Amino acid sequence: MIVNGELIKYAIDLIAVLLLSLGIKGLSKVRTAREANRLASIAIGLSIIGVFTISFANKEISNSSLVWISIGAAIGGLFGIITAKKVPMTAMPETVALFNGCGGMSSLLVALGVTLFPIDNPNNNFTSEIVENLSIITSIFVGSVTFSGSIVAMAKLQGWLSTPKWTQSKFRHLINIFLAVISLIAAIEIARNGSNAIWLLVFGSTFLGVGVTLSIGGADMPVVISLLNSYSGVAAAAAGFVVGSQLLIVAGAMVGAAGLILTQVMCDGMNRSLISVLFGGTLGSTSTSSDSSGGEYSNITSCSVEECALTLEAAERVIIVPGYGLAVAQAQHTLREVTRAMEAGGIDVKYAIHPVAGRMPGHMNVLLAEADIPYEQLKEMDVINPDFPATDVVLVLGANDVVNPQAKTDTNSPLYGMPVLDVQEARTVFVIKRGMSAGYSGIKNDLFDLPNTSMVFGDAKKVLGDLLVELKELGIGSKN
Ligand code: NDP
Repeated sequence: MIVNGELIKYAIDLIAVLLLSLGIKGLSKVRTAREANRLASIAIGLSIIGVFTISFANKEISNSSLVWISIGAAIGGLFGIITAKKVPMTAMPETVALFNGCGGMSSLLVALGVTLFPIDNPNNNFTSEIVENLSIITSIFVGSVTFSGSIVAMAKLQGWLSTPKWTQSKFRHLINIFLAVISLIAAIEIARNGSNAIWLLVFGSTFLGVGVTLSIGGADMPVVISLLNSYSGVAAAAAGFVVGSQLLIVAGAMVGAAGLILTQVMCDGMNRSLISVLFGGTLGSTSTSSDSSGGEYSNITSCSVEECALTLEAAERVIIVPGYGLAVAQAQHTLREVTRAMEAGGIDVKYAIHPVAGRMPGHMNVLLAEADIPYEQLKEMDVINPDFPATDVVLVLGANDVVNPQAKTDTNSPLYGMPVLDVQEARTVFVIKRGMSAGYSGIKNDLFDLPNTSMVFGDAKKVLGDLLVELKELGIGSKN
């Protein structure tokens, strides 16, 4: 019976791992992402049911434990469903940070549970004592750092926490080194003499997570969240060794590797090295709230929607640059109608996608896919940048940092070095935003002062709606 149970468990694990791999692969393309997400959810659901059924059949879980586990799973599941339904796309980084934190905490609790209440685990027949001890230490260390770091990251993104001044001095490195040394001493002590120093490791690594994340600035936060995501995978894989779950080891390793690759992609997108993100201090503001700090504007030209429509009437090539504000305004469907009208009027329309536009990797791709904008029209930054000089009109829709020329021209700018879209090279640039507020990095945008830039002030959805009316009145995209 036990042998059969083991076999069924391995078969379920194998199917779950295959589905999870297919899911992760499918997530790399917008068209297959939805289906891939479903596959990955089925994989996780299957593995939960598998662990439950087999453990219960083999009498590894008592009835009372089963009740507690079911209550926990129901509360967690409900929390997940409500979060997925309620959280707007623009708040996704905070949500991912919170989920990473939950992942880190789970691994920490599993390792703590096994250490403080040791039981003979019949599943764990493939790890030696030394591997188990190392796994426990890794699980506690990485789990605690991930948990506390993610909570700090979430609080900063939500604007609940700002970067304290002292964290910008070199002094913070000393504190972090001290915490790392304490954690190391505790880890050695646990490896040599068992669980005596376990709480020292928990507190040392928890404060280390806070210490490292607290000094990191707003514009670097996406990279940190992606890195913490990778850590949560490492912690889960270590927890897999602790409880003898091959499935957890494989899934954790996949998350760890995927998070690391994403971190590298984002570092490249912002032209930052991981070392400078982690140890370089703040870059820009610490919250998502926009303010207009960072200098005065001296040459702002604004125009009406009607003037914008008249310029578009004479244009042959138009590039749309979507940004965070487009997502806030939920203007993607109206944008689709506007671009359909322009295309029907013979205008060539493309979309320029910056890798960190919006508030999460791939944010603009997801947003535009939602409005059925053809994927082929979305051009990545390196592909579209050479096209700007031959472009008649650029419509910058709720984007700011990703089109700031300071990133290339001003060595003192916090954005310096971040690759940006060279929109200023087009003949005319219309920037559609509500006012002169800064973007995520909190700094002035030199683009707005340039002679070929005109501001069209207003909510992106409202302006695009008005633009559609104007275009139709001009006979563009209308049969009248
Ligand atoms: P920004 O945050 O730089 O700018 C967004 C602009 O949108 C603001 O200046 C705001 O100006 C405008 N806006 C807000 N609401 C509306 C609205 N309803 N209608 C019209 N405009 C609106 O956005 P970008 O996309 O250019 O840049 C993304 C930034 O976010 C980068 O700095 C990036 O590093 C960072 N980041 C990226 C993440 C990612 O993974 N993609 C994650 C976290 C941060 P106003 O208020 O005047 O309207």
